[in-house]
Amino acid sequence: MVPTITVIPGDGIGPEVTRAALRVMDAAGAELQLEEHVAGMTALETLNDPLPEETLSSIRRNRVVLKGPLTTPKGSGFRSINVAIRREFDLYANVRPAYTILPGGRYEDIDLVLIRENTEGLYVGVEHYIGMEGDPRAAAESVMIITRFGAERICRYAFDYAERCGRRKVTLAHKANILKYTQGLFLDVAHEVAKDYPGIEWDDAIIDATAMWLVLDPYRFDVLVMENMFGDILSDQIAGLVGGLGFAPAGNIGDGAAMFEAVHGSAPDIAGEDVANPTALILAACMMLDHLDQPNVAGRIREALGAVVREGVVCTRDMGGTAGTVQFTEAVMRRLEAEA
Ligand code: NAD
Repeated sequence: MVPTITVIPGDGIGPEVTRAALRVMDAAGAELQLEEHVAGMTALETLNDPLPEETLSSIRRNRVVLKGPLTTPKGSGFRSINVAIRREFDLYANVRPAYTILPGGRYEDIDLVLIRENTEGLYVGVEHYIGMEGDPRAAAESVMIITRFGAERICRYAFDYAERCGRRKVTLAHKANILKYTQGLFLDVAHEVAKDYPGIEWDDAIIDATAMWLVLDPYRFDVLVMENMFGDILSDQIAGLVGGLGFAPAGNIGDGAAMFEAVHGSAPDIAGEDVANPTALILAACMMLDHLDQPNVAGRIREALGAVVREGVVCTRDMGGTAGTVQFTEAVMRRLEAEA
């Protein structure tokens, strides 16, 4: 049966990169039915609701989403719709691979996967003021929540992923030296879970040292697992090792649904200019095709995309070229058609 997916084009550069991913999947022969819905700023502007019920019920029905980035207002305004969707569907594992496609960067042959806990930590959004607003002694407080349940399922996911994908090692990055309760619990649980996976090498590292080693010697890592905010920050860092945010896809995986997106945001500074690099969302679409049991189609897209990037003739601005989003997308489609 041909699967139906929910497509959310998103805000800013979202519609441009989403269209690119859909065209490339079509050229590669992906078998999909599409249901398009809005969320985020676009939904607020058109339907007066940043997360409309039609979008949620489409996700409930289809259980697979391809999503362009969504704008979240800073400070005041609505809370992140990305976080809301992840929470609504309990998409607890955020899988963020980073591997070298673009040649000639500072690092060669990077191949890392960061697995970020997606539902707990500081991003639960439990925040309040203590004391009167305007009083200089008043405090703004955010609460970090780590549960044994949440820590165990993400650690287990990371080890299962390592086993399934033939990876050699899992590293837990944490801050248990300072945050002895929350991060200490995460570390204790990881130690317990690791015992069930004797075939996978494992270690733990303090998050700040991990950030440094990712710059000095990223090859010492393989699969990294960590809590929500640390994962948010370090996944941008590992994207930097492979050419930047334009190359970083993400899968948000739960037991009943999965959402695939780029790590980058809606890039309002370049929206509508036909300069965005669609690679991250195309790679996210490949993760989705793997998830939908169409790995051959995903493999063909990765090959064609890699060939166009390596050739270096049709490249977007962030890759050092002058091609627009559409021109780059069509180069990948031509490559797919030539190799069909
Ligand atoms: P951003 O990722 O949108 O942009 C950071 C920088 O990277 C910008 O200079 C941008 O031009 C560049 N960039 C990003 N994607 C690119 C691409 N595909 N090709 C070329 N250059 C690219 O981060 P930001 O500016 O901090 O955030 C903008 C908005 O996106 C905010 O509202 C933020 O909340 C939201 N956001 C959404 C998601 C998501 O939907 N998952 C993730 C991160 C940020």
